[in-house]
Amino acid sequence: MAPRTDPVELARDLIRCRSVTPDDSGAMDVVETALSTLGFECHRLTLGEAGDPPIENLYARLGTEGPNLCFAGHTDVVPPGDEADWTHPPFAAEIHDGILYGRGAVDMKGAVASFIAAVGRMATSLAGPDGRWTPSGFSLSLLITGDEEGPAFNGTRRVLEWLADRGERIDACVVGEPTNATRIGDTMKIGRRGSMSGFLSVEGAQAHAAYARSEDNAVHRMIALLHALTAAPIDEATDHFDPTSLQVVTVDVGNPTVNVVPPRAAATINTRFNDRHTSASLQALICEKLDAVDRDYAIRWHVSGENFLTEPGVFTELVASSVADATGSRPAYSTSGGSSDARFIRHHCPVVEFGLNNATIHKTNEQTPVADLEALTAVYQALITRVARGEPLV
Ligand SMILES: [Zn+2]
Repeated sequence: MAPRTDPVELARDLIRCRSVTPDDSGAMDVVETALSTLGFECHRLTLGEAGDPPIENLYARLGTEGPNLCFAGHTDVVPPGDEADWTHPPFAAEIHDGILYGRGAVDMKGAVASFIAAVGRMATSLAGPDGRWTPSGFSLSLLITGDEEGPAFNGTRRVLEWLADRGERIDACVVGEPTNATRIGDTMKIGRRGSMSGFLSVEGAQAHAAYARSEDNAVHRMIALLHALTAAPIDEATDHFDPTSLQVVTVDVGNPTVNVVPPRAAATINTRFNDRHTSASLQALICEKLDAVDRDYAIRWHVSGENFLTEPGVFTELVASSVADATGSRPAYSTSGGSSDARFIRHHCPVVEFGLNNATIHKTNEQTPVADLEALTAVYQALITRVARGEPLV
């Protein structure tokens, strides 16, 4: 079989697999077949405890020498919602007026297809007499999971553990999440803010509204506590991060009457915190603000992830230069947005994210211009070309 060099047809093959987490529906086979054709050594890891739906994962490597440049991505997608709301069916991969429609077009089957096509183009132009291309002085690898949009328990994190157990090293990693805001080349991600929720509750005294004392009213006390958290900004921006955001996302009293003061009030806050804080130090700061107005409350925490940053350096420069080579535009470094599997990879090696345009991720009518798939393929090819020339990864 000939190497796959067209990101558009490969992306369409992937979109036609209805791989809503945890279903795979053949998507990983499409990836594995394309990589095997290029000579990658492929390891399929089907993971999941008894009773869990099994999750398809793939680690594939081309070449035996270091350093090892890894591309990380996922083949699973979020549900399409009501398919009748789509102007083009979410799993048909139709192209109209140069736009490819489908769930996963940008998040992130399109990027997976672009990276594979980039390797395919390298192989086609550099292949030896046997029709194969093997990198010399470096290796390329792909870590592809079917559990990124779901709980992410049986995905990238476990594949990274498996790699570590085998002594398999990755030296630097690009994650193909959609990072650009308006055009390919405007933004790459070098880290993320941390994410933490707090569940706050206050006990008051139930009383007749006509006779209640204001200081016993759980709602009044909750308002004072929330005001203490929201009256002033938590902090200011840092070199690479926006200010910490603290949002009250719900206040719950559930009082059906007008003449009874409720005995209890609850509220949930969600924070996205920059590198001035860890989750522990931010919890302490929030409790300090609460204690200043009322010490009689309870709060329980859920930490979704700590912040992280790949310090601008050799690897961020290598990727940014490759983007500039291919698009003529040097990307801005950003740490905005929600979480991705980069939060696991950053414990192993420098990691950045660069992919398609994020305007339609998780939306009805998710779509990408076909031209963007070509542009992203050119970026990945420029990156591989620089590494093949001997430029250091880290
Ligand atoms: Zn994604």
